[in-house]
Amino acid sequence: MKKIAILCSGGDVSGMNAALKRFVEYALLKKMQPYFIEHGYEGMIDDHIYPVGYKEVAGIITKGGTIIKSARSKRFLEKHYRTQALKNLKAHGIEGVVVLGGDGSFKGMQKLSQESDISFSGIPATIDNDIAGTEYCLGVDTALNIIKNAIDAIRDTASSFDRAFVIETMGRECGYLALVSALTSGAELCLIPEIPYDLHTYKERFLREKSAGRDYFVAIVSEALDQTQTLVTWFEKEIGIESRATVLGHVQRGGNPTVYDRLMAYRFVTHAIDGLLEGRKDAVICYNDGGFGYRSIEDVAFVDYMIPEELLLLGKEYGIKEGTTGTSPV
Ligand code: ATP
Repeated sequence: MKKIAILCSGGDVSGMNAALKRFVEYALLKKMQPYFIEHGYEGMIDDHIYPVGYKEVAGIITKGGTIIKSARSKRFLEKHYRTQALKNLKAHGIEGVVVLGGDGSFKGMQKLSQESDISFSGIPATIDNDIAGTEYCLGVDTALNIIKNAIDAIRDTASSFDRAFVIETMGRECGYLALVSALTSGAELCLIPEIPYDLHTYKERFLREKSAGRDYFVAIVSEALDQTQTLVTWFEKEIGIESRATVLGHVQRGGNPTVYDRLMAYRFVTHAIDGLLEGRKDAVICYNDGGFGYRSIEDVAFVDYMIPEELLLLGKEYGIKEGTTGTSPV
């Protein structure tokens, strides 16, 4: 293999630039010419493909997002546009492509692989950590740290003003970000789609705690539930405390990548390139039990992600803290 390319597809995450840096440096080390493809599959169709060297990746490791841009591409769903994209790759002599993205990007990668003899390596990259087959997706740690900083700051004002704050985290259909954020910031309430809940259980406990002196609450709720405003009203009406909502939104997607994400970017990319060199045609690099492995696109992009049971158990305890006499929310 002499020429390999990389692209970012779907939602951008912090750590993508570190991945690009490692991609260029490791490809050159392995005597290959690295290429960038801008704007994901859109750029593949429009031939925004160009060779790069050390200069293009100097100083980018500290930046969130991706310097080669990410995109979603409706055109790519049509075969004739994919044929055009493959023609462009062939014209450049590219034999392997690393795709940083989520489920959808891997499905696209599978189509390209089936329609050509070019090899593909997928790296799970989404802040939602909702990709099956891997315990970790690039960008999650940075997003969690941004959420942590936001919750810590909100706790300061909540405690100073005797208020309840309902903080909504991203995650689409998955409660991972909300759950881990609640556990690691000591929130009083955490609502996610994976754990059935009954607010009556919390009401009893919160009223008891309030009469014992608790003067503020921090609640974390996953965007998947669409319950943020309902919860604000619940705190005001049922618990009798002034309440505010904070929807964290896209702030969770940007920012200076953490050490962990920089290192994981390096490790994911190394395995992606090694996989291509070993002759793997369309594998996704997965991180499990402290190590990396290769999984088929079928096992990753066509399977539903489940939050590990051990984490869910910790989350379930939110509604049944010691001393609660109400029924368990689960
Ligand atoms: P995120 O987690 O940020 O949503 P994703 O990779 O799942 O990332 P999608 O928008 O689902 O994001 O997919 C990215 C792109 O992959 C799409 O815009 C489309 O071009 C391509 N893609 C998705 N599904 C398919 C498919 N079934 N066949 C071909 N291409 C696809």
